[in-house]
Amino acid sequence: MTIDYSDPQIRKAAEWQVKKQLEKTRRPRMELTRKVKAAKLKELALQEMGSGDEDNLSETVYRLLEEATYDEPLGICSNENCTYYTVVEPDQDKGWCEHCETKTVVSCLILGNIV
Ligand SMILES: [Zn+2]
Repeated sequence: MTIDYSDPQIRKAAEWQVKKQLEKTRRPRMELTRKVKAAKLKELALQEMGSGDEDNLSETVYRLLEEATYDEPLGICSNENCTYYTVVEPDQDKGWCEHCETKTVVSCLILGNIV
């Protein structure tokens, strides 16, 4: 039996199969939404301050980003409910999280849309 790919429905089904196969083999680059990026940046700043004091938060975020431009930047795990953070490369978007054991640590410069 030959498959008639001119049939739009069959073609659609075939394309879907190919797409599914591709998704299995290729790990897509993680795309974080603006909201997640902002939330993670805030979380990282809070971790850095070591307290729940949010009064100087914007200043801390600013300092964090400023320091990262001339020093080794910090990155934080992008998984929900994980606050693991470490020193990373400026453009790191898949650093190793020792807590989750996944490549989910993202540089604060990426979170701040600087690189
Ligand atoms: Zn993690």
